[in-house]
Order: sequence, then structure tokens, then C-alpha cells
Amino acid sequence: MNFADTEVVASILVRNGFEPAGDIESADLIMVNTCSIRDNAEQRVWGRLDLFRSIKRKRPSVVIGVLGCMAERLKEQLIESDKKVDLVVGPDAYRDLPALVTAAGDGHKAVNVLLSREETYADINPVRMDSNGVSAFISIMRGCNNMCAYCVVPYTRGAERSRDPYSIVNEARDVFERGYREVTLLGQNVDSYLWTTGKEGEMKVTFAGLIEMVALISPQLRVRFSTNHPKDLSDDLLKVMALHKNICRHIHLPVQSGSSSMLQRMNRKYSREWYLDRVRAIRGYMPDCTVSTDIIAGFCGETEEEHHDTLSLMKDVEFDFAYMFKYSERPGTKAERHFTDDVTEEVKTKRLNEIIDLQNKLSAACKKKDIGKTFEVLVEGEAKKAIAGRTMTGRTSGNKVVVFESESAKPGDYVLVTIEKATSATLTGKLLINKDKR
Ligand code: SAM
Ligand code: SF4
Repeated sequence: MNFADTEVVASILVRNGFEPAGDIESADLIMVNTCSIRDNAEQRVWGRLDLFRSIKRKRPSVVIGVLGCMAERLKEQLIESDKKVDLVVGPDAYRDLPALVTAAGDGHKAVNVLLSREETYADINPVRMDSNGVSAFISIMRGCNNMCAYCVVPYTRGAERSRDPYSIVNEARDVFERGYREVTLLGQNVDSYLWTTGKEGEMKVTFAGLIEMVALISPQLRVRFSTNHPKDLSDDLLKVMALHKNICRHIHLPVQSGSSSMLQRMNRKYSREWYLDRVRAIRGYMPDCTVSTDIIAGFCGETEEEHHDTLSLMKDVEFDFAYMFKYSERPGTKAERHFTDDVTEEVKTKRLNEIIDLQNKLSAACKKKDIGKTFEVLVEGEAKKAIAGRTMTGRTSGNKVVVFESESAKPGDYVLVTIEKATSATLTGKLLINKDKR
């Protein structure tokens, strides 16, 4: 999400006459786009600000800015702290950046952290940065209304709003025509995407409808999306996915915990049974669909039994992949106001390690089952680590990374690869057909 936002920021600045600098030492404006989701994300930003300050000491005219969630959360504190940044801009105020940069350059306080109920940056065509020329992120909505007890996002990114579907389709068509072969539609809870003109009797577009509109651009364009919310994942979406081969066979469905009592404390609005039913539905419609998840270890009051419920749910589902975190208390959240962060650091670490060890085993086992199978792979580029000769890397529809040797495959090609070896993270295979060569 921050990556996509940074591309919007770059576009706003370029439109206003700014140019990217070759490196940080020659930049007149240095900004960091920030995340507040866990304390360690914020600590990394504070570290980065030390580096920026050292540059400013050498060149006092440099303007330093903090963008995004940390700007929203800490506001003027960032200007007043000993790190003394010049510019503080929240996630809904990026259009104001050119004026704020000028104000900061003139020595004025430059802060805009107003949250909006409408801003979706729909008309801004993002500048694609650090791109492999194959995959692009497209933001389809902003903010979140869910109020999970541990989460700072609703406070830093504001209320949920959906972007005009036609602007989304136009952006996807534009990147496809420029040679991209994959788009990832982004939102905190894509299942609650809903666009309507607000007038009675007029058309409504749901997420299932939107994804079909994007999939119909071309069968050569892969469509991914993130993140789904288990409480809202609908059969309508699964039916549309099953109908279109170019909608990728992968759902990221964060469970957070396998215990119903814990899920209730987290205010997730579903139970263990509901989650397992949704996974059964996914596999019923698409037996080849991979499922990945997010898990939090050591949320307030977590008992050993609740932790074991998480381990047992992981075994029941056999996730292909997981992002796993230790609970980090965030100021202002429901959990910080009403619960005690009472699981010790030692226990959190022990539980997280158990979760990671189990997931490593599950990932390895599910990749092992792929040996001998042939997958259509979208080539992304050359692999960092060569297996032999020219080693290329790409992904299956199920989002599994595949490396293979080929002298001819190019980024953006669709190839068929038969898997010969597997680790918990990567599949290695033999190129069968370069479909783009036929
Ligand atoms: N909207 C998505 C959802 O509901 O799953 C994801 C939002 S969040 C940016 C990504 C993940 O960070 C969450 O799924 C959760 O596992 C984790 N997370 C959020 N707040 C956290 C906290 N306070 N401590 C640890 N992990 C947290
Ligand atoms: Fe945070 Fe929950 Fe919203 Fe995800 S759905 S962003 S975890 S409040």
C-alpha cells in the first residue's frame, strides 16, 4: 500500500515540475513514507531520520519530510522533536505537497494531516517506480472501517472509501497496453469495496463486479488482489474467480488467531468455524487455489490453549505461506485503551517461534507436492541467485516463486515449467514451453 502511495506522491511531484534526484546526497527534498503498524516499523523510520539530519547539517537548505501513517499519528510532534523534520503530510493530503514543500523551503511550518472522506487519488496516474515492467499495484480503496482491537490503520488512514471503478479499469488497461502483464488491486478489505453514485436506482459495483471488469481487459493480464477479510469473503467473488482463468488462484486471508475467544477480543467479527468454512468454500470452487495468511502471536490475554488453537488451525488449513508477527501495542487503539498487554516478551517470542517453525514445515510440505507438476509461470526477470546458466524467476498463478534456466525467456513472457525441486520458499523447474515464442 505504501509502495502504491509513493507512486502517487511521485506523480503529484513530477506534475509540478519536480524531478527524481540521482541519489540522496544530491537531493533538495528527502521524504520517507512511513508505516505505524508495529513499533519496530516506526523505530526504523526514527533511525532513517538520523541519517537525513546528518545530510541537513551539511546542507541546511535540504527539506526533510515524513509522509504517511507516522505523520498522521504523531503530527506536529515530528516537527517539534529533536529530529526536527520540515514537512509532515498525512495519507490524504498528498495533493497539497507542492505548496507544503514551498512553505517548508521558506522556513514555515508545513503540516497537513487532514483525513478525507472522499480522497482516492482516482485521477492521478501513478509514476511506476522500481518496477520490473511486469507487475503494477493499483489502489482501489483507502482507509478502513473495521476497528480490529490491535490495529492503528483506521486512525492513521481514516474511513473506508472506494475508488471509481472506471478509473481503476482505465489504469489497468493503460499498464497492460504499456506491456505490464499483472495488476494487484489493493485495499485493507477488498471484499467491502462498493462503488455507487449514491442516487437511488443507480448502478452499484461490488468487488466481484470490479474484478470481473478488470479481468475482461485481456486474458493475457493476470489479476491479483489483497487483502481479503474472512468476515466479508463472498461466494460471489469465488464464483467470478473460478470463471476467469486470469484471476490468480491465490487468496490472502488473514486469520490472526485460531481461537474464537481470541478473535472476539480482537474484534475480528468471525469465529474459527466461520474461517474454516470460508477456506472450504475457496477450495470447493477452486481446488488449486493457494491460501496464505497473517498471524499475531501474544495478543492481550492470550492463553496457552488459545495459542494451541492457532497452531491446530494452521495444520487444518495447511497455509501455503504466512506473515507472522508478535503483538505490538499501538497507542490509541481499542486494545491499548481497554486491555493489558500482559503476555511477556519471552512468551510472545516462544509462541511466535512455534508458529514460524510450524509454517516452515507446512510451506515445505505444500511445495513438495508440486514436484512433477507443470505450471504456467509469468516471467518477472533474472533471478538473483543463478542455478545454472541464465536463471529466470517468475510466479505461478498461486503466487509461488519458480526459478528455471532459459536463454530466451523475457520479463512478461508466459512459460510452462515442470517442477523438479522444492524448498519452503522456492520451486525450481525445467522450462517446457515459452508460450510467447509459439
Ligand atoms: N487489512 C488487513 C487485514 O485485516 O488483515 C491487513 C492490515 S495490516 C497492515 C497487516 C497485518 O499486520 C495484519 O493482518 C496483522 O496481522 C498485523 N498487525 C496489525 N496490527 C498489529 C499489531 N498491533 N501488532 C502486530 N501485528 C499487527
Ligand atoms: Fe486493521 Fe482490521 Fe482494518 Fe485490517 S481490517 S486494516 S487489521 S482494522
